[in-house]
Order: sequence, then C-alpha cells, then structure tokens
Amino acid sequence: MDSYDVIVIGMGVGGEEVAGQCAEAGLNVLGVEKNLAGGECPYWGCIPSKMMVRAATALAEAGRVNELAGSSRTTPDWRPVADRVRDATANWDDTAAIERFEKKGGSFLRGAARLVSPTEIEVAGRRFSAARGIVIASGGAPAVPPIEGIDTVDVWTNREAIEATELPVSAVVLGAGPVGLELAQTFHRFGCEITIVEMGDHALPAEEPENGEAMGKVIEADGMKLFTAISADKFASVDGGVEVSLSDGSSVAAERLLVATGRRSDLESVGVRDAGLEPKGGAIQVDEHCRAAPGIWAVGDVTGRGGFTHVAVYQGRIAAADIIGRDHAPADYTAVPRVTFTDPEVAGVGMTEAEARDRGLKTKPGVAKTSSSTRGWIHGPGAEHGVIKLIADAEAGVLVGGSVMGPPAGEIIGFLGLAIREKIPVANLTQLIYPYPTFVRGLEDALRELG
Ligand SMILES: Cc1cc2nc3c(=O)[nH]c(=O)nc-3n(C[C@H](O)[C@H](O)[C@H](O)COP(=O)(O)OP(=O)(O)OC[C@H]3O[C@@H](n4cnc5c(N)ncnc54)[C@H](O)[C@@H]3O)c2cc1C
Repeated sequence: MDSYDVIVIGMGVGGEEVAGQCAEAGLNVLGVEKNLAGGECPYWGCIPSKMMVRAATALAEAGRVNELAGSSRTTPDWRPVADRVRDATANWDDTAAIERFEKKGGSFLRGAARLVSPTEIEVAGRRFSAARGIVIASGGAPAVPPIEGIDTVDVWTNREAIEATELPVSAVVLGAGPVGLELAQTFHRFGCEITIVEMGDHALPAEEPENGEAMGKVIEADGMKLFTAISADKFASVDGGVEVSLSDGSSVAAERLLVATGRRSDLESVGVRDAGLEPKGGAIQVDEHCRAAPGIWAVGDVTGRGGFTHVAVYQGRIAAADIIGRDHAPADYTAVPRVTFTDPEVAGVGMTEAEARDRGLKTKPGVAKTSSSTRGWIHGPGAEHGVIKLIADAEAGVLVGGSVMGPPAGEIIGFLGLAIREKIPVANLTQLIYPYPTFVRGLEDALRELG
C-alpha cells in the first residue's frame, strides 16, 4: 500500500486549494480526481457561464443604444461564445491544472476514490493510506428530479448548456435559481425562446421576495415566459422536442429541456459511512476548522455551506492551515456573499429578512429602489428594476443581511459583507461619505429607512 501524509478526494476548487497548500508546505500529498482537475467552476460552472453572460450582456447593451444614443443592430452569433469557452477550458483539458499542482510538489492520480476506513482509500483496486489526514472535496453534480417521463427526454444540465456549439430554437428551463436564470437570459439574448418553470413563489427563491419579483419583471420585459408557484409534473418526448405538463393543468413544449434544479453530492459513492461519517441533509457536517472527524476534513459543496467557489476556497485555506498546524481563524459564515450574474445582477449577503426572523431576531428592513438613486436614474435602461434591502437587528443596531439588485450588484455586496461581518453599527454606516453619483450610494437611501 502506498502511503502519503495527506490524501485529497476530488480536485475541484476546494480540493486544489487544500492539496496545493499542503504540498507547498512540504507534505507528501496525493490528489485524486475522477474527472477534470479544477472541477465544475472552470469547466462547466462559474467561468464559462460568466463568459456567456458577458456576451449576452454586450448584446443587451448594444440594444440599449436605440434608447440612449442613436440606433444599433446586432446579429447574435453563438460561435464566438462557444469558441471562447473552448479556449478558456482548453477544450476541457486539465493538463495545466495538473502541472500546477505537481510543481507545488503534489502527486496526482486520475480515478474515483472511495474511503475504505478513516485513514485509507481505494482507487481502481489500489489502496492508499494517509498518515495525517484525508480531505473529502468531491463536490456535487446536477440534481435531475425524478419526475415522470424525465428519462424519456433528452435532458440538458449546465454541462450540456456550457458545451453547446449551437443553441436550441426554444427551451423550457426548470428552476429559476441563479444557474437557471443566467443560462436562460443568455440563451434568450441569442434568440432562443425561453419558458421558465419555478416551484417557488418568485424567481430566485433563495433571495428576498422583493428582488425575486423585480427579477420577474426583468424576465417579462426581456420577452421570456416565467411560471412561478407551478411545478412540472410530467415530461413527454414529442416530435421536435419535449412537452412539459404543469401542475396548473397547462403544458409547454420546446426543443430542449434545461434542468437547473440544484446540485447533489453523491456521498455514498465516496464511502463516507465506511469512514464512520454520518451525513445530514446530504452534506458532511464539519466544525469551524472543516474537520468532519479525527483525521478527516471536508471542504466545498459537500459541506452544504452555500455551493460557491469562494466558500470552497475559503474552507480549503482553513482545512490546509489546520492540517499543516498553522494558526488560523475559525470559519465564520455570517457574511457569505451570493451573486446571480444576470443583467441586472442580484446579490445578497448574510440573512434574508425571513431567515433573520426565523432565528428570533427583532428585524428592521430598510428598502430603496435602485432606480430611485441618482445613478440608477442616470443609467436608465438596464437599471429600471431592482431593490436594495437591508436587514438590521433592531436591538443590536447592526446589519445582519442585505441584498442589492442593479448592474454592479456583485461589486457592491462586498461592502455590505464587511459591514455585517464586522458588525459596524448602522449609525456609523450612515455617517460614511458615499461617492456621488454611484450605485453604492443607493445604500444611503435604504440606511436612512433604518433610522
Ligand atoms: C453553471 C454554474 C455556474 C456557477 N457559477 C458560480 C459563480 O459564479 N460563483 C461561484 O462562487 N460559484 C458558482 N458555481 C458553483 C461552483 O462551481 C461550486 O460551488 C464549486 O465548483 C464547488 O467546488 P468543490 O471543489 O466543492 O466541488 P467541484 O467543483 O464539484 O469539484 C469536485 C471534484 O471532485 C471530483 N470527484 C467527485 N467524486 C470523486 C471521487 N470519488 N474520486 C475522485 N474525484 C471525485 C469531481 O470530479 C470534481 O472534479 C456555479 C456552478 C454552476 C453549475
């Protein structure tokens, strides 16, 4: 049996971070990856999807010339987008990522790892042991809901959508979360007719209802169809595509079905129970040092802490420091930012108002329209909809959550993250000088409502 100091199962963004740091610290590290080193984010997630969004937003902005600056005509062409994605992913080749890791001193093994005990794994019949620790960083995969008839139709998940060289003429998108909306809006701007079906009461069901409803208006104004509080009950393959029967008795048909209903971690195939772990709610429970059990750490999507690259990397750093024996601050999830990169963007951090109430806090919301700020008004098309909503803990006088919707919402949310994490009193936030006329200055209007 080969032995190492540290074994990392899954070399996505979380696994790469731990494995790389441990190797650089001089530990003997084995990184095992069954697919591509780098994981979902660079090949089928964050990076290629944001390249697609960038292209779609360029088209939308060109269209706004008609309202703002004369006239413009665009001829959308998916080919340059597909080419750029192929360039960015090196045609789904991870040679560079493996070399990067090996240069740090790590050893890479391609294959599916399974824990056989708290200190050993098996890959294709070979056993490997870890003297210092095993890190589970096996991420997740698209969760396709077991709805009647789904196995009879050709389903696209984010993977097929990102790899597409041609777009369908029409698509039904199941799920109006960040992934569903980013892909739906992008496809639509390249000429694909879109119908979105969402079980929740509003688009972006994890965000504040005010922003979900505003996003509904954006979707309508774009010319897409959105069904909310409706579920897909049955799928059937029909000539030219798929027919979806909905819970209100109606049906929609399209060339393609794109499922964007979340991701699930396959913890059984990683053998977590053989290592003595008891996952809860489909996630591995970890403490503030990302420890799942003595000698076992877990980072990234498998921990159920948000499903973001920035969280996977954050946890990766903490786990690496803990394994190496370096001083480190314990994990703190009070200000995890989340961004939906639609046009306009929707960003949130900390708790929503409902979450804060559920935790028993006496909440006070401060709400302002993005379009009412001077910059929102100047911006005009592209900033008509959107709400800034701040949630204060009325007793402590600090923010516990905030959300922003507007063209640069993802850039503004970092500011709110700092205010929440550092518990900066609302009174101090209202005393700041916000540059005029910027979108961030819109926060002042919402802060004013908090008193
Ligand atoms: C379309 C899309 C867009 C996204 N956009 C954003 C964004 O803009 N910002 C953001 O922060 N997040 C975004 N995300 C989420 C982000 O991609 C994930 O949160 C992130 O990739 C999680 O990293 P991870 O290391 O936990 O898991 P993963 O990236 O899933 O990596 C896990 C790796 O483990 C491997 N593996 C699994 N089981 C085994 C095994 N038994 N043996 C060996 N290897 C195994 C897998 O092959 C995979 O490579 C997006 C996701 C999608 C789908």
